Amino acid sequence: MHQIDENLKDRDHKKLGRELDLFAFSDTVGKGLPLWTPKGSVIRRELERWVVDEEIRDGYLHVYTPDIARLELYKKSGHYPYYKESMYAPIKIDDEEYMLRPMTCPHHFELYSRRPHSYKEMPIRYAELAKLYRYEQSGELMGLQRVRTFCLADAHIIASKDQAKFEINRVLDLIERLTALLGLKPYIDDKNTGDYYFRLSLGNRSDVKKYFKDDQAWDFAENILEEILTVREKTHRVRVDKKENEAAFYGPKIDVQMWNVNGKEDTAFTVQYDFVMPKRFKLTYVNEHGQADEPIVIHRSSIGAIERIIAFLIEKYSGKFPLWLAPVQVVIIPISDRHTDFGNKVFKLLNQAGIRVEIDDRSESMQAKVRDHTLQKVQFMAIIGDKEMAEQKSVSVRTREGKNLGLIETDQFLALVKEEIETKK
Ligand SMILES: [Zn+2]
Repeated sequence: MHQIDENLKDRDHKKLGRELDLFAFSDTVGKGLPLWTPKGSVIRRELERWVVDEEIRDGYLHVYTPDIARLELYKKSGHYPYYKESMYAPIKIDDEEYMLRPMTCPHHFELYSRRPHSYKEMPIRYAELAKLYRYEQSGELMGLQRVRTFCLADAHIIASKDQAKFEINRVLDLIERLTALLGLKPYIDDKNTGDYYFRLSLGNRSDVKKYFKDDQAWDFAENILEEILTVREKTHRVRVDKKENEAAFYGPKIDVQMWNVNGKEDTAFTVQYDFVMPKRFKLTYVNEHGQADEPIVIHRSSIGAIERIIAFLIEKYSGKFPLWLAPVQVVIIPISDRHTDFGNKVFKLLNQAGIRVEIDDRSESMQAKVRDHTLQKVQFMAIIGDKEMAEQKSVSVRTREGKNLGLIETDQFLALVKEEIETKK
């Protein structure tokens, strides 16, 4: 049903990741454990900085918690029996067993519990770029899409029951805003285009092994999520589907489903309503009447796993990243050695301004250099020949699309590059 890209082989993120030198795998390091090259790390760092800034602006409190914890913690959360298959074997430290964490939730709950909270503070939104470790069978591993360790743009919103609806809508707004900036569009049925849709993932009352038994709480939570999606389906015209037996053990969720270039569907981000963890962790806040009340928890990821969203973006853009994410933003190409002197001056000007710039002073022809950087999908090439060298004030600018922007004064060129980075076009 979803259109498959015809040039999908050229867009494959594993192939582009190699050609553009973004990430690598080593048999000695281990399967499913990506190594980020300097170039790939630029993309990752830019994305991470951006998402942290956006979330802080949206009222999240960004925190750090450890990658490992005592097995006790996951027994307390109930993840241990339910998630055992996805977790790695315990690590023995002194006389205790520790686990590489498969999720962040219990860490954030323990953080919340360090002191009492008043209704005036609620909701509390803890966010973290959390490194997680989950077992995947070796046959399931695929580039950056399926790995054995990944970094999730994770958060837990601890709120009163009355705040749940507002908070979930707020999360969906954030997801829509962030994904739109990355160029992702909601799927619109009558246009048959788009990158993602919302799926309401429900539990199954009769399956008490898989889902926590509390019919009333399930009804309440599922109704809230359904109401939210029904309204958004109308107002945002975004496609909404429903699926039974896809909920988390602690409550229903809204999954943001995305297609990759192979047309394969995957859950990219989730928003989950949880009425179980607050009980297990005895989370409380003091309400308006001075009594202890039980909050609810919303688990959410804004742009999902960093590895997976980068895999998706590589394929979406065919490696032609928008300037703010591009590992190299400008390459300066002196035509011959005698032009290198002015080339270095331009390099300094851009470099001091925080632009990711390189100078290509290899003894290759200008055409060969332009071809190489076009293949590397560098957006701007600033060429320096006799004329530019003599005047010492302009560069000839070409783009990766082969467009010739002509002679541009260096200050003007810097302003142009800066503006495109800042507006994240
Ligand atoms: Zn969680």
